[in-house]
Amino acid sequence: MTDKCNLRCVYCMPESGLAWLRRDELLSYEETVEIVRGAARAGVRTIRLTGGEPLVRRDLDRLVAGIHEVEGIADLALSTNAVLLEEQLAGLVGAGLRRVNISLDTLDPARFERIARRPGLDRVLAGIDAAIAAGLAPLKINCVVMRGENDDEIPAFARLTQERDVYVRFIEVMPVHENLGLQAETYVSSDEILDRVRTIDEIQPVPGPPGNGPARYFALPGAKGAVGVISPLSHDYCERCNRVRLTADGRLRLCLFGDQHVDLRTPLRAGATTEAIADLFRASMSIKPERHHLRLGEASSRMRAFSEIGG
Ligand code: SAM
Repeated sequence: MTDKCNLRCVYCMPESGLAWLRRDELLSYEETVEIVRGAARAGVRTIRLTGGEPLVRRDLDRLVAGIHEVEGIADLALSTNAVLLEEQLAGLVGAGLRRVNISLDTLDPARFERIARRPGLDRVLAGIDAAIAAGLAPLKINCVVMRGENDDEIPAFARLTQERDVYVRFIEVMPVHENLGLQAETYVSSDEILDRVRTIDEIQPVPGPPGNGPARYFALPGAKGAVGVISPLSHDYCERCNRVRLTADGRLRLCLFGDQHVDLRTPLRAGATTEAIADLFRASMSIKPERHHLRLGEASSRMRAFSEIGG
């Protein structure tokens, strides 16, 4: 959607120094909807809007409405830090949004400001409450775990699932060029994360919400929601991965951790038909790698920051 963000999370982006895409490099909403139309014709059924921070792009509800109308798209979700969610929610829901994934790494305001390098925990919590009140479900909360930073909050996050029908997903911190030192120092494996959840009570594997997501889910006794772990390093999910990502400048990336991509913007701006875009989607599957080659403290692609392509 965009490479810009209103936060600067330490594991995701540098504080400054990233070169933003120029306006003419960004796909317009009309171009994005046309690519979604081609994707749907090639068999894509699920779209998730990510970034950067999608809510910093003006009138995002226009894009949501456009995608909502594409025949064949059955599921449309938004990944957001939720800082701007409460104020935009009514418009987004009116446009057809049914699901949000909210990123939240701490429940402590001072820590939030240290991790995100910006204040805003109160607005994120208001966004979560607004999403629940609006009936957006299943609500997923994504928490990147860092040793010595927020790993002591694993039980507090897991307890949220006892009271509320939410999925709290703990994510192993992944390496990109901007965070190699931090990643190697703070990495906590999902096995250790689950052991910390077990300090509350025993947990049982559960199916989790519908969809082809990368998480494995577990529930505490009597919990309304569930805990999930996303383990790209310790238990990769490459064999189940059917995802591709469209960058804000119109490249279709075939793996989060690889540089294989297909440029869709150039053919689109040269007048490609919906069927031609669908053909590019079908053809690009042949270069989707079998698996990634991530290692602790090593970046496996040229990507500097996650904000460039979305997590
Ligand atoms: N701004 C939106 C948000 O906060 O959800 C969407 C983009 S953000 C890049 C998507 C997700 O990627 C967030 O949950 C974020 O925490 C996660 N993420 C970013 N960098 C990461 C890293 N190095 N390791 C693991 N997860 C990361």
